[in-house]
Formats: sequence, C-alpha cells, structure tokens
Amino acid sequence: MRINSVKAPPPRFRLSHTAKLSTAMAFVLGGIAWTTLNTDAQPTGPAPKVVLASMPVTTFFFDDAVDALAAHFTKDTANATKPDTLSAASSDETTTPLQSDSAFTSGTPQGLDLPGLTIEDLDPLVEEPDSTTTVTVSPLVDHPSLAAVRNNADAPEGSLRTVVAVAPGNTLSGILNVHGVAIDQMPKLLTDELVKENLSSLAIGQELEITQTADGEFHDLRTRVGDDKRITIRRSDDGFAVASIDLPVEKERVVTSGTIEQSLYLAAAKANLKQSTIMELADIFQWELDFAKDIRKGDQFSLVYDRLYRDGSYIGDGDILAAEFIRGGKTHRAIRFTTDDGVTGYYSADGQSKRRTFMRHPVDVVRITSKFNPNRLHPILHQIRAHRGVDYGSPYGSPIYATADGKISLAGKNGAYGNTVILQHGQKFSTLYAHMSKIADKSIAGKRVKQGDVIGYVGKTGRVTGTHLHYEFRVNGKQIDPLKVELPAAQPIDAKYLPELKAVSDEMTAQMRSVLSDIDQQVASVTNVISSDLTPTSE
Ligand SMILES: [Zn+2]
Repeated sequence: MRINSVKAPPPRFRLSHTAKLSTAMAFVLGGIAWTTLNTDAQPTGPAPKVVLASMPVTTFFFDDAVDALAAHFTKDTANATKPDTLSAASSDETTTPLQSDSAFTSGTPQGLDLPGLTIEDLDPLVEEPDSTTTVTVSPLVDHPSLAAVRNNADAPEGSLRTVVAVAPGNTLSGILNVHGVAIDQMPKLLTDELVKENLSSLAIGQELEITQTADGEFHDLRTRVGDDKRITIRRSDDGFAVASIDLPVEKERVVTSGTIEQSLYLAAAKANLKQSTIMELADIFQWELDFAKDIRKGDQFSLVYDRLYRDGSYIGDGDILAAEFIRGGKTHRAIRFTTDDGVTGYYSADGQSKRRTFMRHPVDVVRITSKFNPNRLHPILHQIRAHRGVDYGSPYGSPIYATADGKISLAGKNGAYGNTVILQHGQKFSTLYAHMSKIADKSIAGKRVKQGDVIGYVGKTGRVTGTHLHYEFRVNGKQIDPLKVELPAAQPIDAKYLPELKAVSDEMTAQMRSVLSDIDQQVASVTNVISSDLTPTSE
C-alpha cells in the first residue's frame, strides 16, 4: 500500500455531541438487527456482544519493574475483558427497506455514508478508569457504519427476522422448513452447488439469519462460512438464488495518543493498542529511544494506524503509518513510506531512515537480566569475571533473530556458551548468540542470513544458572556493549521521494497534533477516527 494514496479528510478536532449520539444510535440499531424480532418460540441466536479490549498479559518486561508491571497488567486485564451486552429493544427499524441491494451482489459494500464516527466515550460500555490514571478507554466494538452493511438490505414490509444458532441434530432443511420453505421446494435448494459446497454440514453454533415475510413465507437466509465468506439464499421468481460473497478486510484510519503515567505499555494498553502494535512502536524507535530506561511520566506518544474490520467486526490492527514520541520535550517522529520498488520503511520527514544496520535486540521479549559489565562477580564461579555481553531472560524456546544481515561463521556446541551461532557482518562486526535450546535447521556455517531471520531458540545449554540468551556484539573481534554501541543508519530515502514524504509527514503530523492538543486539556488517552477506507486491502 502507498500511504500517500490514502485520501483522508481533515482531522476532527473535537467530538461533537451529534457525532456521539449518532454513534450510539448506530450501535443500538446494529444491536437490534442482530437480535430476533420473532416472537415465536424458535431457537434464536445469542444477543450481540460488545467486547471491550482484551490485552493478553504482557510479555514485555524491563529490569526491576517486572513484578509491579505484571501485577498491574493482571489486574488490568481482569477488569478490561468483562464483556458487555447490548440489550435488545423493540423497533421496526430492521424492516425499513434500505436502497442498496449490493450486499447480495457484491462483496464490497458501496455507497455507504461514512462520517468520521468515533467509537470513543460510549459511557455505558466504558469501565471505570484505574484510580491512579485519567484515561478514557475506547472500546473495540464493531465498526458502526459497517455493522449496518450486515443488516438485511431489502426485507419487505412487516417481515420477521430470526437469528438461528445451529444446535446438535439441526439440518439446513429442517431449519428452513420451520421458517417457511415447503418440503417439495427443498430438493431444488439442497442440490444447488453453492449450498452443497458450503451448507451441507452446519457447524454447531453457526448463526443463520433468516427473514420471513409477514405471512410466514421464507424470504432470505444469510450466514457466515469461515472467516471470509458469507452465503445468502433468497427466494426468487423461479425458486432460489444462492450467492457466495467474499468479505474483504476493511480499514479505518485512527489516531491514538497517550501520556505515560507508569509505562508505555500500560498507557498504550489503555489506548487500546494491541500488544503487537506497541512492540512495533518500540521497534520503530529502538535506536533513538531506550524504552527500558528513557521513558518518564509525562512523556507522550501519538500514532496513526489502521484498524481492520471484516464484515463489520474488528479483527485487529494494521501497520503504523506514522508515530511520534515526545520525550523530555524532544520530539521523535517516524513516517511509514513505500517506494516505487515496493520497499517500505520508516523515515523522519527529511528522509533519514529509522532503521539501523543492526536491530537493537535479538529477541521479542526484552527483559534484560544481566548487562555488559567488565567487573561482574560470576554467579557460578564466584569470582570477578567480566560479562562481555547482554543476557535476555526470555522464555524457553523463544525465537532468536539475526540482528543484521550476515554470514554464519559458527553454528554448534561451543563450550561454556552451549549451543551457539556466530554471525559475521562484513569485515568489522560479528554477533554471538549463546545457550540456545536449539539451533535453527537453516543455521548452517557458511550460509547467509537476513536481518530478522530466526537463527535459533532461547535455552540453557552450556554454563548457565537458568534459561536466557547471552548476546555479544564484537567490533574487530572485541566485545563491546550492544546496548550502547552507536551504529550508522540504513540508507536514507532516495531524494526524489522527499517532496512526497514531506507531504505525508505534514498531513500525519497535523492529525497527531490535533489529538495531542486534545489530551493536554482533557484526558490521557484519546482516539479519533480519521477516515474509513472501504476498499479491499491487499494485506
Ligand atoms: Zn551472559
């Protein structure tokens, strides 16, 4: 994706009451549509659930803060994962015909009016914030506009809509018969190729949305098959029309900002950023900000990224498009940019690459248990023995990544180092990874690796007291501290892209600025929706 090709309207600086109200209405209507309006004693699907953000217990620890952080996260998670439920309400909204029939003919919803709805600040759904912080949680709920797409587009006047959850023993013909399909019509339907392929065996719990006309005749049926397909059956003049609809991933661009109260991870979690997004953020700034040491209360971050939806349901976060970190008054900014030859990177507005020739850390789970120290008392030998590397207390079996492109000069047992891989990066630099539980199959001496390749797995082979990765960084064969080494940036962007990059940077920065100025005056975390992009993505 070329980020400069995404057209976004100007950012919304304030949330108006109208926007909030229409958002709330969309939720209510969406909720109603998912709830049966049939008063018969038919089996019905569960009421719609609005699930608050659920952060897995973090695995991203630093130094001494481990226990406090873990404890806090456990508490947070317990509070944040309580699902909430919208209650059903009576309304004739679902029987109002909408103009579009596109849901039956195309996988891409067209012509939807998508105002800059925000999903922030829906009072009934928001948990009380933690007493030590002033953070507003934006629940990750279904995209209100997209949710409307799922609703029946052309139900006739007075029709009845039922959501049937498939129970053990149910068959398609049995369910259809109860909902207005005569037995003699069944063979024609059941021999349809799409029906045979997709509905011959129903999953327990699978939801079938069935609409009947006012006189009880079957009108249509809709159901999800797998993650990315919807099957619809409609009554037609000469029997039934069956369609298979691909459900594309849809994007909604949002800006999220937060202020650090205790740690980046807590603040980001409060802003409903997924853990993978938080790690991506830390990754982007890994060479200019040490998230283990440098982050202080009051520091601020903002990022522009995509939330991804399928069939109106939130399924995850896309890439970070721009990020800003204000630390001690100094602003660090990164803009995602893809060149014409398809290479994507993060750059400052003047085209300097955020990437270094080496990654800072060789593991995902950054918990440093022993630093580079020429005067360390050795834990086993009990004598002063220099520690010429950095130890990462990652879980047993965690992948270990090559921190730069290079050539494997050693892969095998290596005395006190245990299972070890050594990479040579050009003439001057080499890196060593020790105590592996297992060396990756592809790690063979003489072979080349790319930065980020998995070369082995964390273990406790060799002379160790417990599971960890011992990582060394060597310049001309001499170990130096990998956490302090200064390395040159990767190539800056080609000068011909600079005007484009600058334009993207200006736009994104304005969006992040507007959200940050909000939180300066109000709360510690704000999310604004900037635009929704309903075109299918290639991701
Ligand atoms: Zn070590």
